[in-house]
Amino acid sequence: MVYYLNDIEHKQLLKKLRPLSRSVGVTEELRGWSWDNSPLKPYHDVKLPMYSICSKYCPTSRDVYLKHVLKKKGEMTYPVSLGSVTHAAINEAYRQVRRKNFNPAFEEWYNVQKFENIQGNLELIKKYAGMVWKHVLTNAESKFRDALSSQPYSTEEDMIATSAPFLIEHKISGELIGCSGILSVDCYDYLHNIMFDVKTGIKKEEVNPYKLYATGYALVFESVYEVPVDVGCTVFLNFKDDRLLVERDLFHISDDLRSWWIEERDKKLEMVYEEKDPGMAECERRCMYAAECMA
Ligand code: SF4
Repeated sequence: MVYYLNDIEHKQLLKKLRPLSRSVGVTEELRGWSWDNSPLKPYHDVKLPMYSICSKYCPTSRDVYLKHVLKKKGEMTYPVSLGSVTHAAINEAYRQVRRKNFNPAFEEWYNVQKFENIQGNLELIKKYAGMVWKHVLTNAESKFRDALSSQPYSTEEDMIATSAPFLIEHKISGELIGCSGILSVDCYDYLHNIMFDVKTGIKKEEVNPYKLYATGYALVFESVYEVPVDVGCTVFLNFKDDRLLVERDLFHISDDLRSWWIEERDKKLEMVYEEKDPGMAECERRCMYAAECMA
């Protein structure tokens, strides 16, 4: 259930996170709608995509310098390929859910996709994407049938909207706070007001840096729509043999997370604006820019 919370998570949301966000709150100047004042106001005329601001896999952030200053493209890796294909499968599966089509053919869809330069074991990537596809559709259908049977006067369209209350791949501009103008949000649950971000092939134990993504998207939402978004959730998808493992990390989008996101944004906007090479990190040279750093 990629974006559906389980019973325990619902209890955590209601008994822990909501009361926490009501009692602790969020400082007004750290709300996205305060984008025109410090500290949220960006001071450099540079716009970066969310992944460049939030990604922490390069300890010196040289990947950001290579991509945005030297305009290097980098090379696809297996983890990036898997992430990109599974994201596409989730998005298409939910698109079919909104059409009340719970049994679309995965093969047909997959075979006409033009996934650019995907790397690694292509059969395995396809298999994993198919598992996610099936998981999304099966769960969405079950929620839909359940909702339909409990509301005799509802329309099917209404029950789709309430049983799968997700804005998927919502396009939004992050320009007010220094992000790209063509951001795409993995998922926003509009009934429970939760910002989701999906990560593939990453363990929940490595969770902390990944909270930055949902935090950044929440700030963007607040800057554009002026509605508070207090809860974020990172969804971790992993594959073990023939099994899809789904874990979620629900969290309060606190002042600390917001300040951390702003710090990362400022550091990276400044690096790109000043065209400053941060130098190579001691790393395993396995990222998309490994060839550049080994040259
Ligand atoms: S190869 Fe290492 S130093 Fe170079 S961008 Fe990647 S993580 Fe950073």
